[in-house]
Amino acid sequence: MKEVVVIGGGLGGMSAAITLAKHKEFRITLIEKNSHIGGKLNVLEQDGFSFDLGPSIFTMPQYFDALFEMHGKKRENYFKLVPVTPHWRNFFEDGTTIDLADTLEGMKALDNITEKDYEELQAFYTYTEKLYDFTNDILFKNQAETVLQTLKYYPPLKIFKDSDYFRTMDEGIRKYITNPYLIDIMNYFIKYVGSNPYDAPAVMNLLPYIQWKFGLWYVEGGMYQASIGMQKLMKELGIIVKTNTEVLSVEKQKGRISKITLSDGTTKHVDVVVSNMEAIPFYEKITQEPEKKLKTLKKKYGPACSGFALHLGVNKQYPQLAHHNFFFSNELKQNFDNIFHKHKLSGDPTIYLVAPMKTDPSQGPEGHEIIKILPHISVIKGDKAFSKEEYEAFEDAVLTKLERMGLTDLRKHIVSKELWTPETIQQKYYSNQGAIYGVEANRKMNLGFKVPKTSTFYNNLFFVGGSTNPGGGMPMVVLSGQQVEKHVLRSLK
Ligand SMILES: Cc1cc2nc3c(=O)[nH]c(=O)nc-3n(C[C@H](O)[C@H](O)[C@H](O)COP(=O)(O)OP(=O)(O)OC[C@H]3O[C@@H](n4cnc5c(N)ncnc54)[C@H](O)[C@@H]3O)c2cc1C
Repeated sequence: MKEVVVIGGGLGGMSAAITLAKHKEFRITLIEKNSHIGGKLNVLEQDGFSFDLGPSIFTMPQYFDALFEMHGKKRENYFKLVPVTPHWRNFFEDGTTIDLADTLEGMKALDNITEKDYEELQAFYTYTEKLYDFTNDILFKNQAETVLQTLKYYPPLKIFKDSDYFRTMDEGIRKYITNPYLIDIMNYFIKYVGSNPYDAPAVMNLLPYIQWKFGLWYVEGGMYQASIGMQKLMKELGIIVKTNTEVLSVEKQKGRISKITLSDGTTKHVDVVVSNMEAIPFYEKITQEPEKKLKTLKKKYGPACSGFALHLGVNKQYPQLAHHNFFFSNELKQNFDNIFHKHKLSGDPTIYLVAPMKTDPSQGPEGHEIIKILPHISVIKGDKAFSKEEYEAFEDAVLTKLERMGLTDLRKHIVSKELWTPETIQQKYYSNQGAIYGVEANRKMNLGFKVPKTSTFYNNLFFVGGSTNPGGGMPMVVLSGQQVEKHVLRSLK
């Protein structure tokens, strides 16, 4: 038997463990430092509310389905998905409200979308479809992890055209769309990977296509039910799961990891290590590489943004909200500059707001509403941490903006509250500088590629999750866990 250890029970780690369990010669142990399995997919029961602390937007269910199908099972017997419609509701400071319908055709029926807007959206959709086809070929099917590997699968000159190589995401959108509200809406798809549309490669414009093509879903009973379903499958497959146990360090031998030391004082021999802990924190904390060895890695694979996650239970309902809502900043670009370049908290941030009880009233007391507010903010930057007073002022700016934009007396109706800052997120999951989506997709830094799955330092170490390809966000993280199988098997030949 080969001893396979998966460090971390996030979606990436669970997906890897489930995929590797196809091979009977592996004894798989998944080790998680927290008391719950699911990583950032996490839940808090408080004051009669069930707060999903992590992801709320579920796309590309096919990658979740695959985990069950590979073992002859059906995902819907473990957790069920409910379609969300409209996909988002978008609020602007001048009072304009535009829905993002659940299909492209649905956009045509909206009052404030003109014939011209619709024609532009159609042309944009055709463009995003091509970007998806390109990415599907390179990243999802052929699993390229670098530009060099891409050249093995794709004719070089076609890469430029098919990936819209020379443009940023924002430039790609403006090539097709002229309505300023729709430009902001399309740019905000970058939320899904916590990056900056003015720096991200144009290929990220595949995101609207993915959502319209494969749908936007809610997990029946709350997002955390997806983790419960996957845990049930792991149990059936005989995967050993240890919670409340942290991997503290490793023993190295001839370019391999030979043993791990756990927080319960025990050590364990390993043949294969799959780290769901992000690559940079792993090298810093666990194998303790010298700083100079990590310089290139850090420069190329900087963290995606973090978030200011404010979970509110309120004793009022706001009928104007949909399940997913965006309250846009008047200054979208400046807002992204503050997050990614200036390390500043914006006075007028764009706010993502989830009201899950619109789809699932069982998540809180009758007549109440869950209002989860998630403006993206900068990750933790060395000694330049935000002070308590800065966070308080930011919270005030966010709530004032929401009240100004129609959520009347929101503050007066709060009956339950839970706040997670980048510091909470970093401490809980050991993500790089408190990032919530792994590595930033940045045209100049990495063209959207993440850290390769096979470690360049240790022959039997592999990465899964948001810091590795194909990237952050639930479906991509789950796909990374499936893709790692090929690398593990190759290393054992
Ligand atoms: C507030 C918030 C909102 C989000 N919204 C969305 C959304 O709407 N849609 C979407 O698709 N994505 C969203 N995301 C991102 C999504 O949650 C992540 O991309 C995904 O869950 C990350 O999974 P992962 O497996 O890469 O990492 P994680 O979930 O972070 O899992 C890593 C695990 O490793 C454990 N670990 C780390 N070090 C050790 C160690 N030394 N020993 C043992 N265990 C260790 C951690 O405790 C953690 O459980 C959101 C994230 C957050 C925080």
